[in-house]
Amino acid sequence: MATPIPIVCPYCGVGCNLELSLDEHGRPFKSKAAGRNPELNGKYLCVKGITIHELLNHEERLSQPFIRKADKLELVSWEEAVTAASRGLKDIISKYGPESVGMLCSGKILNEEVYLSQKFQRAVIGNNHVDNCARLCHGPSEAALRQQLGFGAVSTFLEDYDAVETVFVVGAHTTFTHPIIWMSVKKRAKRGGLKLIVADPRETDLIKNAAVHLKVKPGMDIFWLNALGKIIIDKGWQDQAFCEKHTIGFNAVRKATENFDINAACARAGVKRSELELTAELIHDRKTIFIWGMGLTQHAHGTDNVSALVNLALLTGNIGKPGCGLSPLRGQNNVQGAGDMGALPNLLPGHMPLEDEAARIHVGSIWDANVPTKAGLSAPEMIHQVASGKIRALYVIGENPAVSEPQSNFVAWMLQRLELLIVQDIFPIETLKYADIVLPAAMMGEKEGSVTNAARRIQFTAKGVRPPGEAKPDWQILQEMANAMGANWRYSSTAEIWEEIRIAAPVFSGISHDRLRQSPGIFWPCYDESHPGTPRLYEDGFGFRDRRARFLPVNLPNTLMEPTEEYPYVLITGRLLEHFNTGEMSRRSTKLLRLRPSSFLDMNPQDAATAGLSENETVRMTSPYGTVRLPLKLDVSMKPGYLFAPIHFSDPNFNSLMSAVPIDPKARMPALKVIPVKVEKDG
Ligand code: SF4
Repeated sequence: MATPIPIVCPYCGVGCNLELSLDEHGRPFKSKAAGRNPELNGKYLCVKGITIHELLNHEERLSQPFIRKADKLELVSWEEAVTAASRGLKDIISKYGPESVGMLCSGKILNEEVYLSQKFQRAVIGNNHVDNCARLCHGPSEAALRQQLGFGAVSTFLEDYDAVETVFVVGAHTTFTHPIIWMSVKKRAKRGGLKLIVADPRETDLIKNAAVHLKVKPGMDIFWLNALGKIIIDKGWQDQAFCEKHTIGFNAVRKATENFDINAACARAGVKRSELELTAELIHDRKTIFIWGMGLTQHAHGTDNVSALVNLALLTGNIGKPGCGLSPLRGQNNVQGAGDMGALPNLLPGHMPLEDEAARIHVGSIWDANVPTKAGLSAPEMIHQVASGKIRALYVIGENPAVSEPQSNFVAWMLQRLELLIVQDIFPIETLKYADIVLPAAMMGEKEGSVTNAARRIQFTAKGVRPPGEAKPDWQILQEMANAMGANWRYSSTAEIWEEIRIAAPVFSGISHDRLRQSPGIFWPCYDESHPGTPRLYEDGFGFRDRRARFLPVNLPNTLMEPTEEYPYVLITGRLLEHFNTGEMSRRSTKLLRLRPSSFLDMNPQDAATAGLSENETVRMTSPYGTVRLPLKLDVSMKPGYLFAPIHFSDPNFNSLMSAVPIDPKARMPALKVIPVKVEKDG
């Protein structure tokens, strides 16, 4: 039997380590945790992690390039596909200029591949229109954390749960979305005295062990977060010494709360004042870790939501010390790495701002190219600018905008309007319907390199499985594309690309592939080879010249999605344990599909009785932007007036109900979490 291949799970940001067992033909037949990384997942995987071999062997894997000819995708050679793609891009650039080409990059490819993607966009195409899937999940977390603390990343790590006294979970169903991390948290925190606070409109399984369940109205977080801050300040429970010594802006926040009406805010947010007072008691002088998910971020005021939570952590001095911190639960297995490597319209590799002239000159000198100065477009903006004719071509790598972007009917129309759509992926995803050129890519297990988990832990993932047919690692495809466009890239491995990353981005300078192979992962920043890495951020001050964190007063939002007479319910979208994001991988696992075959709508039985609807009947759900049909499930844990549906199924696609506007002005996040709807009998 061949030696098992150690890889990192291609699903979520926990980044569990697993091994692929190979048969005598070198094909994987089993995926199991082998205890390779006891600090992280040890011998445990969730139900998704044990099905990775199914994806590697799946008959639908893309195995050869295609070009659309006479409205049909036809198999072609690599040479033909790369020539056509590069010629198409060159023609569009010569007709409309480099600003007419955008790139959507993936949070599930290797760090080295993300790095080459943004290098391709900046150095070969000549603009900063590059973005990744974080835009639709934790873009607001990245923006708020960077603005207030210095780095757009988690501050804490698993060992902090050994010392934590209160865990505060906001808008995250951790047992479904990040099950293995939650298991570790529970194991480490299993001592008397730990308090769990959960803020969630739904009664998830987490509330069984919660000291407080804030059953908040979705999208109303700023109301209750500001009210909680005001309660702490009124009682004099803030960590005054921390605020004075390690922050700026505390007085501005205190002043902003002077006339704040706590009772009115509680009524707006749907929580009792007494519950917030108990919450204040449980966080003000106890070591607290704040964990949050997309319940907090996926709003057109998502960045302000996160800022309000960061203010609370600063107010209570819960950052930069053992047992404290801020932990956004990132989605894709390498979405942290996608931002770290610069697949963002405003940041270069290593979180260096694009506006930093010295950083541009530094990176440009390594690339032998000028880094464009003008900030690029975000993913939703690129799609919008197709309508205006500003964007004429899109290169989509490991992303599925036909399903993931809001107002999917509009998105489909925009994708059709493009003069050139290049899709590089592992499966025939829904976006392929609109593609002119399809490039088949390799996945984890078929290529080696590094990925960065939600805790900033960079890990090595090995190769050992043959990619299907002619599929290639994304870095090789990008190199062929760049050279066909006139570049002269000569990388022979991801190790060589990583060596360039170490020079380009000082926060990774101390990390080599050799170190990664021999370690359970290294936390960035890591500035030289003798540096152990930085599991906990901000122990020696914050990421600004004055070493102080920033309080930021947060105003009440005017982008709320509230029920109306015509649309009396509020739909909340969320995740299931058995599936992942838009489902293009998990829906292809026989095991996962058997466990959760299709979509559904959860409704409180009282609401269903009032509307004359019954369990399992197909209902029609309509928002101002679209209609979907799906079976109804009655769920007593749903708050009356609220509905829940999982996001993983393309049929129906709930993003057809969502609006592309308004958009978060700071993180350019559309409102994907809630939408007012009506529900009727179908037919
Ligand atoms: Fe994979 Fe996440 Fe499950 Fe771990 S918790 S096995 S990383 S999906």
